[in-house]
Amino acid sequence: MMGNIDLASKIAEKLPSELTHFIHLAGEVAEQQGQHLYLVGGVVRDLMLGQANLDLDLVVEGNAIDLARQLGKLNDQCQVTTHPQFQTANLQWSRWRVDLTTARAESYAHPGALPTVQPGSIKDDLCRRDFTINAMAADLSPDRYGALLDYYGGVKDLQAKVIRVLHEKSFTDDATRILRGIRYEQRLSFRIEPDTLELLKRDTSLLDTISGDRIRHELELILDEACPEKALGRAAELGVLPKIHLSLKGNDWLKQKFEQARRLTAPNLPSVGLYLALCAYHLTGEEVEQLISHLRLPKTLAVTLRDSVAVRGKIKTLADAKIKPSLIYRRLDGYSLLALMTNLIASDDNTTRQHIQQFLSKLRHVKPVLTGNDLQAMGIASGPAIKEVLWLLQAARLDRQATTKRDEEQLVKDWLTSNQTPPSHS
Ligand code: ATP
Repeated sequence: MMGNIDLASKIAEKLPSELTHFIHLAGEVAEQQGQHLYLVGGVVRDLMLGQANLDLDLVVEGNAIDLARQLGKLNDQCQVTTHPQFQTANLQWSRWRVDLTTARAESYAHPGALPTVQPGSIKDDLCRRDFTINAMAADLSPDRYGALLDYYGGVKDLQAKVIRVLHEKSFTDDATRILRGIRYEQRLSFRIEPDTLELLKRDTSLLDTISGDRIRHELELILDEACPEKALGRAAELGVLPKIHLSLKGNDWLKQKFEQARRLTAPNLPSVGLYLALCAYHLTGEEVEQLISHLRLPKTLAVTLRDSVAVRGKIKTLADAKIKPSLIYRRLDGYSLLALMTNLIASDDNTTRQHIQQFLSKLRHVKPVLTGNDLQAMGIASGPAIKEVLWLLQAARLDRQATTKRDEEQLVKDWLTSNQTPPSHS
């Protein structure tokens, strides 16, 4: 289906006027240079669905770097970044970011390989895309502005609400599309079309050929969705989740805990770290290490996962209703906040939850008034004794045995008496 659908009015209606103005102008500048410019990918899909999407991807039949530089000159505030080795550029100004790519054709040497790329037409460029609904473009040339290009049946599939690959080697070329397909299916409440589903099942094992970095990227995209548990549940059902790690589960427990995580962090969405730590909550220490190294998780995420499992190991001791606040502090101090939130959400015991909550909201902020210098001035020798007395004061504060500076000073005097430390004159 070509040229029958005009997206011009949808662009004007759904995109902010600043962006509409920009793409209009960009189409004219490209034309003056004898190049053709197109709006492609997710934004076109979403415009067809009547939704706004501010991630603009533009493809030019010509030279993306030259065009980006020309466009950058039209706006003082615009920052242009170019990547000549990929023939891509991006433009950033105020709140906006636009990606610009040279139209290209791709071929794959073997499954899991990165593609070999050469310049191509817009049709070639759309042909290398993951699904028909993502393989549409809107022409931005002034005389065809807004005309839809749909070589692969994207409109029909949008209407039928199906996710369909463009050709039967699609998942073989790039198995990350398996995770992408599941993500779009669940986000849009579509269905993976039966032939595509067969291909997906046939090629699931090829996920083993994909680097940990690329799998992590796709997993992060899933965890960035409004309800990631839907895609994780579907990935589990299709036997795809064990390809990320054998012990990951996309079950009802996870669904319930993800919902709880959203309630806890509202109005913000939970971070990828919190979701990931919930996914990994039931893994053994060894399995967590496998996951960290397989996905090459960055340090902060790795710490969250390790801490979360370490706190889980102590969680039973927090179920005692009579436990002193200073002991709660000792058990939970030093772990990342996300790991504590993970345990707060994951635990089903009310007392344990109250204790973690108490640590997060109050106990972790409690500090004695007296400092190390004060203690030295009172005659405590520098070194381990200072640390010991500071903790004694902190514990007394936590357990409400000391509430004033005077209480703390009295505790120091008592300690000095019982430890018979000679006063320091230094
Ligand atoms: P989202 O709505 O999640 O942002 P998007 O469609 O904008 O989705 P991106 O990941 O930004 O997705 O990718 C932009 C476009 O690039 C996609 O619409 C798709 O056409 C294409 N694309 C991205 N990844 C792949 C892939 N692995 N294989 C083929 N095409 C891809």
